[in-house]
Amino acid sequence: MKLGEKLYEGKAKILYATDVPDQLLTFFKDDATAFNAQKKGSIRGKGEINNAISAHLFKLMASKGVPTHFISLPSPTQMLVKAVTIIPLEVVVRNIAAGSLCKQTGLALGTNIQPPLVEFYLKDDALGDPLLTPDRLRLLNLATPEEVETLTRLALTINDVLRDFFNQCEITLVDFKLEFGRDRTGQILLADEISPDTCRLWKQGEPDPQKRVLDKDRFRQDLGDVEGGYRQVLDRVLGQAV
Ligand code: UDP
Repeated sequence: MKLGEKLYEGKAKILYATDVPDQLLTFFKDDATAFNAQKKGSIRGKGEINNAISAHLFKLMASKGVPTHFISLPSPTQMLVKAVTIIPLEVVVRNIAAGSLCKQTGLALGTNIQPPLVEFYLKDDALGDPLLTPDRLRLLNLATPEEVETLTRLALTINDVLRDFFNQCEITLVDFKLEFGRDRTGQILLADEISPDTCRLWKQGEPDPQKRVLDKDRFRQDLGDVEGGYRQVLDRVLGQAV
């Protein structure tokens, strides 16, 4: 397989064409951004760590019947994926209140959310990725009502699978963000990544609210040793067979 032209460069990944039809190569970068790219930095080894965690979790999803774009890992920082057109929606699932939910509603950090919340945000940096109401989601028509139903169902299934898996790793899945795409036939596939960049993950049995954080909040909140947090997730995830 040969690397083709650069198709897109995002904040954490670069996407390349390949000489194989419908297969693209994603390169995971060490670059980190937060607060809509107002805070920038680099986390040593992040590209490799997130690539390996995402690959493991995509395999887990496939084993549970959730279709994903994952094909293989040609190198530690590269993921071969099926070509999809990304639906410009960020699908967030929340089990425990944190982040923007606490800021916008006043709910206390750590409040249990049952049943889990599924939220749709518009994927548009220039607009600050706004939260969409169901009516606005319908108005924008970025996904058909049937597709929105599919995205919601898939998000909840993914949450069930991920929550169980992370529990086995003695990690609590607080919340996470998913992106989906359509392949050439219109089938919806889970895309992007599932990693400490896109999930909130708390180490179980750790009472210190700063020490328990193993995800990008270490970077957002300057908690220190970001790489150490990500590596703990990697070790625990790779320690569980799928
Ligand atoms: N998230 C993400 N990318 C985004 C926004 C959110 O991966 O552009 C993830 C974030 O890491 C967290 C979840 O989605 O796991 C919910 O994020 P929230 O809405 O609380 O926003 P934040 O606190 O990151 O502003």
